[in-house]
Amino acid sequence: MIRLIRALIDTAALRHNLGTIRAYAPGAKVMAVVKANAYGHGLVSTALALADADAFAVARLEEGVVLRSAGVRAPVVLLEGVFSAEQLAEAAHHGFELVVHDPLQLKLLESHRGPERFIVWIKMDTGMNRLGFRPEAFPEALQRLRALPVPALELRLMTHLARADEREVWMTREQVAAFDHAIAAAGLSGKNRMATSIGNSAGILGWPNAHGDWVRPGLALYGVSPFGGETADQHGLKPVMTLETTVLTVRQVKAGETVGYAGAWRAERDSAIAILAAGYGDGLPRHLDNGTPVLIGGARYPLVGRVSMDMIAVDVSAAPKVFTGSRAVIWGAGLPVEEVATHADTIPYELLCGVSQRVPLELK
Ligand SMILES: *Cc1c(COP(=O)(O)O)cnc(C)c1O
Repeated sequence: MIRLIRALIDTAALRHNLGTIRAYAPGAKVMAVVKANAYGHGLVSTALALADADAFAVARLEEGVVLRSAGVRAPVVLLEGVFSAEQLAEAAHHGFELVVHDPLQLKLLESHRGPERFIVWIKMDTGMNRLGFRPEAFPEALQRLRALPVPALELRLMTHLARADEREVWMTREQVAAFDHAIAAAGLSGKNRMATSIGNSAGILGWPNAHGDWVRPGLALYGVSPFGGETADQHGLKPVMTLETTVLTVRQVKAGETVGYAGAWRAERDSAIAILAAGYGDGLPRHLDNGTPVLIGGARYPLVGRVSMDMIAVDVSAAPKVFTGSRAVIWGAGLPVEEVATHADTIPYELLCGVSQRVPLELK
């Protein structure tokens, strides 16, 4: 049975994108970021498709536990770390790598007495001002981590870029310089060298000096460009998710009549309107604007009127061959999610993560 609406996940595209990322960051190891249900693509199936990744990164402990329960044995990095002794014990049980960004997390590690030893990523804040030790607080954090009663298996260094998606902005250079400077000032060169990780997708694709020993791609793995106005294929990436739905009916609307809630769209002439099974209950933003493209039979038609919970309306007056049962693409192959995002005044990340539980994911 073909579902009315489904998100097709192209696992070959996932693997292709991993290869593209490796070509952009030769020599770097890849920590595939699969937080938030792999950006809506399905956490476990994505990790299984990316078995060649060197590690997986998740935001929360629970996400890592799901991976382990599915039999994923690869290294798993908790990007936000742990926040209680119970979480630390669970992370130890599963062999997770920990990001440490806050003094509380230092205390938890100092209190840890178990036999398990952790790979610890010390997060440095080089300007994002979200998580991480500021460069001036870094030496003390490092010193405490070196003095743990149960020594870390390995200490590594991480920072996160705030504006790498803006090619003309200087901040990425400043962040990398601040990171390098703090590392040098702490004497971590030569035989004291520690592995580093800097680049997210935009860092990987746009800033060769902002990679580090480990790169952390999310969006690029899913075949989407992090740069506004640039498409994935310019970077050699293929879209992984195609959100596909069905025409429920096609109706003739007379000039002057309105379509949908609030009469938000009025027909200027007699029009053929297709009603599609996709709405905000499936994760479409309610404020997709009039004119948002929808792909039916390979051609684009404009969305008209309000997005409702289960349906949208599309003006198919120019398309005699759209019928009840015709398939339509909301975004994905042939219609980049980057482009759809601009019609909702948002970013592709939010659209992908927002696909709701009602939409079945189907691997292809
Ligand atoms: C989400 C996240 C990433 C991945 O970012 P993309 O822009 O999707 O590549 C990398 N690092 C950290 C710390 C993150 O939170």
